[in-house]
Order: sequence, then structure tokens, then C-alpha cells
Amino acid sequence: MLIVMKTDATEADIERVVQVVNELGFRAHPMPGATRTAIGITGNQGAVDVARFESLPGVAEAIRVSKPYKLISLDLRPEKTVVQVGDATIGGDELAIVAGPCAVESRAQAFAIAEAVRKSGARFFRGGAFKPRTSPYAFQGLGEDGLKILSEVREAYGLNIITEAIDEASLELVERYGDMIQIGARNMQNFSLLKRAGRSQLPIMLKRGLSATLDEWLLAAEYVMAEGNYNVVLCERGVRTFAQHTRNTLDLAVIPAVRRLSHLPVVVDPSHGTGKNYMVLPLARAGVAVGADGLMVEVHDQPERALSDGAQSLNLEQYDQLIQEVRAIHEALTPAAAVG
Ligand code: PEP
Ligand code: MN
Repeated sequence: MLIVMKTDATEADIERVVQVVNELGFRAHPMPGATRTAIGITGNQGAVDVARFESLPGVAEAIRVSKPYKLISLDLRPEKTVVQVGDATIGGDELAIVAGPCAVESRAQAFAIAEAVRKSGARFFRGGAFKPRTSPYAFQGLGEDGLKILSEVREAYGLNIITEAIDEASLELVERYGDMIQIGARNMQNFSLLKRAGRSQLPIMLKRGLSATLDEWLLAAEYVMAEGNYNVVLCERGVRTFAQHTRNTLDLAVIPAVRRLSHLPVVVDPSHGTGKNYMVLPLARAGVAVGADGLMVEVHDQPERALSDGAQSLNLEQYDQLIQEVRAIHEALTPAAAVG
């Protein structure tokens, strides 16, 4: 159920609806919008009685939701959510560039890359301290030492830090050092981790699972939001198909599909989405052209020596080239952004 308030509803009217929802033993999720507030209701197993709400002051209508998701939906919030990450945003007019190495390997490596990322005007530095690797023998990340390096990067370059949590213990550490928590593809349906992320104060970057349908992905976001954390950004990173020419098949059609259903921002990761250095630039261009709110790209000062994902990492020169090209595309598509 979704309660749409009148445009002139007061704070007290909204509070009254929230109170009735609570009295019924459910949870209310008020979402203020540009013209009106809507209140999502979760926690109900069956249908909620519409009549209970329709007569309350300030209520325009009570709508039964037939879709499996409620809080991610455009029905709840018709305008795009702009997610605040540290001192920058994702989902606004500016194209969000999230860049950095697959894994933090050393202070020198992170700083060399961060320098280039800062120079490019990007606002977000992403590097893994906890890496979910297919092989238990592969480099697993520096752990908390990696997080400490990331917070030094924030200090030195003013970049906002995005880094992955792979379980509840690492999530608590990321909360201490980072600005945004990445939930990786392999954990997209780790429901206890999603719920814990939903209780975090930090925004969440939710990558699409390796073989997740759009509904499964959106419902994973719903898990986070149902716990009260509405700051979720979706990240398309490719899915597994029969294709052998790429690591994953980057599903760019999912961007307009997300747009049609959800107010959440969505970014494209052409690095994991292709697995190949030479494909990152063309797919980054395409990701922006298709309407993504941002890009997540892997960059390394010495890709040939990277401890993980070197084959898909851009070198610093290639990264600069990419930034110039995608900015030009973004500006051509959104002239207002260029002026601002
Ligand atoms: C990563 O972002 O480095 C990563 C491991 O990505 P994914 O979860 O998309 O595989
Ligand atoms: Mn990687």
C-alpha cells in the first residue's frame, strides 16, 4: 500500500498517517517529493484496509501496490533520487565518475591513481580492501590496512571513498573509514548483509548479481530500503551469458528498464561488464549515451602489475581519454548540465 498525500498536506497530517501505520504494526516510509509526499507501507503480509487511510486529513489517495516492490518504485517517488555521498552526489545533473583500482595494493599505488582521479575532476575514489575472489588463493585485499589507506586518500585528495563490504564485520569497518558501501555482485542476494546495509547511515552501491533479473536486483535494493536506508545507487556490471568474447555481457538495455520502474540512480561499470581493457572506452561511451547517472571504472598506474583485474584496468592515459569523451557525450545529451 502506498499513501499519496495532498500537495498541501501538513507535517502533522503526515505524522498522523505514520502513527496509524505504526499502530497497525507496520512500517511507514515517508518519501518527500517535489510536489507531494508519499508514504510507503511495509511489513504487512496481506492487504491493508484502504478505508483506514482515505478519510485521514491530508490524504489524497491510498493505492494498492500490485508490483513486488514498493519503495524503489516511481509510484512512490516520481522524481529521481539524488544520493548524497560524502560531499558529492549521484543522480543529479552531473555525471558521477567513480574510479580507482580493483584493489588497494599499497599506499603508493592508491596515491598514484588517486592523483589522476582527482585531476580528472572525478569526485569518487573506489578501491577494494575486501575482495570477493573466485579462488581462495588469489589476493584477498589488504583488509583494514587498505581502508586506512583509503581514508588517507580522502584526506589528501578530497575524494569520496566507495569500497566493498563482503560480510557484516567488514561492513562495520567500511562504515568507519568509507563514504559509501559497495555490495558486490556475489552478495546481491546475501539478504542478511542487505538488511544490515539497510540499517547503515552510509549510502549503498548495489551491484547487479551475476545472473540477476531486473526484478531480483530491484528487490535486493528493496531489502536495503525496507530497513530505512533510502540512499541506494544501482550498478550494472554485466551478467553471465553464453558469450565468450567478454567476461560478462554488459546489459545496457537495463538502464532504460530501471528508469521506467525506479527513482534510484543507476551507474554502469564497463570494466567488469567486459573484462577487457580495449572494450572499456566504447562501452563507457555507450553507458553514458543510454542515460546512466555515472560510470564506475577500474584504473591502475601499472595495469600489467595489478594484483587483480589488470586485464580490464585502464592506464592513467586511457582513463584521461575516457573522461574527456564521456563528459562530452554527457554534455551533448544534457545541455543544462554543461551550463551549470
Ligand atoms: C569489483 O567491483 O571489483 C567487483 C569485485 O565487482 P563485482 O562485484 O561486480 O564482480
Ligand atoms: Mn575488480
